[in-house]
Amino acid sequence: MKKIIFFGPPGAGKGTQAKIISKFLNISHLSTGDILRKKLLDNDDLAKKLQSIMSSGNLVSDDILNSIVSSRLKNETEKGFILDGYPRTLAQSEFLNNFFLETSSSLDFIFDIQINFEILKNRIIKRSSEEGREDDNINVIETRYNEYINSTQKVSNIYKDNYSSIFYEIDGSQQIQEITKKIKNILKKS
Ligand code: AMP
Repeated sequence: MKKIIFFGPPGAGKGTQAKIISKFLNISHLSTGDILRKKLLDNDDLAKKLQSIMSSGNLVSDDILNSIVSSRLKNETEKGFILDGYPRTLAQSEFLNNFFLETSSSLDFIFDIQINFEILKNRIIKRSSEEGREDDNINVIETRYNEYINSTQKVSNIYKDNYSSIFYEIDGSQQIQEITKKIKNILKKS
């Protein structure tokens, strides 16, 4: 079964596409942002710590992310999964590589959804009024985008170099249906 990573800056539409494609392939959609947002509802000390990091647009620690992901992935390797929002740092990508080594499994597709800062700024502002996400405001967008450029883009570039045959760059400025069609075509061809 398929194991897929979606990369892309905040607002690129990776969550939307990951959701559609996970239904299409009948595999799990593991959005680390969604998992963390659910943890915020616990209202305990960890939730308070997470809340302050996430609402400022910074990245949550690798230890927390790696433990969340390893507990979720263990049950999914045979069925397949989509990782949405992970890995975002080099330490996370190394952790994931080890996971694949230990489970004798490997990635099948990597989609990198690309979009320029102006378009995504407008999208995130729109999403903030629709979903009420605290980290979707203009002051935090820049921090989140900078985290992406300074940390996650380095990770996606390494995947691009090391996995060029399964790495696909997708233009995220198109309509949702157009992007889905492109991704499905790539999945069908391979
Ligand atoms: P997202 O919904 O993917 O944009 O994630 C929302 C927020 O959750 C991010 O701005 C980070 O604070 C945190 N987060 C999600 N995934 C990760 C990750 N892989 N590493 C660190 N922080 C993360």
